[in-house]
Amino acid sequence: MIWWKRESKMIELRTPKEIEQMRPAGRFVADVLMACREAAKPGVNLLELDALAHKMIKDAGATSCYIDYHPSFGAMPFGKVICTSVNDAVLHGLPFDYVLKPGDLLSVDFAAAVDGWVSDSALSVIVGEQPDAARRAADQKLIRTTEEALEVGIKAAVVGNKIGDISAAIATIGHAAGYAINTDFGGHGVGRTMHGEPHVPNNGRPGRGFTLRPGLVLAIEPWFLETTAEIYTDDDGWTLRSQDGSRGAHSEHTIAITTDGPIILTAR
Ligand code: MG
Repeated sequence: MIWWKRESKMIELRTPKEIEQMRPAGRFVADVLMACREAAKPGVNLLELDALAHKMIKDAGATSCYIDYHPSFGAMPFGKVICTSVNDAVLHGLPFDYVLKPGDLLSVDFAAAVDGWVSDSALSVIVGEQPDAARRAADQKLIRTTEEALEVGIKAAVVGNKIGDISAAIATIGHAAGYAINTDFGGHGVGRTMHGEPHVPNNGRPGRGFTLRPGLVLAIEPWFLETTAEIYTDDDGWTLRSQDGSRGAHSEHTIAITTDGPIILTAR
């Protein structure tokens, strides 16, 4: 059902039956992310992680949302099925010939369609053992903060609240941890395609924006950089890196807003 439409933009609401139909995609996306997290050991190449996800897509009869993805901000079609962002990379990391090292901070983002419905989710992990204790603590804090921000963002995703309540909840956690927040890229509607309306910024004012209604399906995705909010695009045309070389982390779930509260479709 179309709830809101302006020019080519619209927000759709899903029936309870459609939300049930979206569950297999959510479970599949969660499975692939858990497999990637398990496989992300020192000595493993990012291209091997992509190949693992590719095989799981084939075996499941799923469809990648990334491989032919070519939006205005991308230099060329993405060409891979997962995003792997390492250390100072935080979003849209194009997998390349890189062997993971102990202590690398890896973010994996994955979206796929099953039965025509999309789910989108991401996680960050420290690869192997970080030998530097201070570095380890800082990376753990960064990851934990994105996870906590995701948790409070989901808690705010209840009928009657506004988009701004989700944004403000995320920002409160990020700011409390001392991170600046970039609002160029954030959460979004999810449905038959990966990126729909409305945009869900990672910072905003409570009580502002669309009122949340049952059937709204959103990807909520806090990401923070350690000491900056500025990013630039790598020469590969995709990977977004921190301007100052500091590390980033990213946590994302696809959720459905219902009268019984938010359902995490990509729960792991
Ligand atoms: Mg994603």
